[in-house]
Amino acid sequence: MKNTGQSYIGSTGKEVKARKLKKLKNTGQSYIGSTGKEVKARKLQEPCGSKCRLKCLEKILQDDRESLFKQFWGIGGINKQRKYIICHVKSVCPKYAYKKVNPTRDRSENKAYHFQTENI
Ligand SMILES: [Zn+2]
Repeated sequence: MKNTGQSYIGSTGKEVKARKLKKLKNTGQSYIGSTGKEVKARKLQEPCGSKCRLKCLEKILQDDRESLFKQFWGIGGINKQRKYIICHVKSVCPKYAYKKVNPTRDRSENKAYHFQTENI
């Protein structure tokens, strides 16, 4: 052991590192995870495509998608991000579900995302 002062600096450095890591994580940037592997920065995913029944491609423009993406990761806090999702998600019960013979099957709810794409 070299000296005790060093270990003190070490532990503070750890805290700073942890705080930095949290910030990177919460803002969707790349960071080195606990396993030493790099976690890639969050990227805007490809749109659903023409097969999507909700017609996302027609309803949400690419610019809007980018704005929403930036908005979400700009929040920078997991709790606020969760709240953001909750505010924009509505559970949708598919109509045909009521006619199901076996009610215990396929009861998972479909989630619909409702974004206001004007004035972003
Ligand atoms: Zn879609």
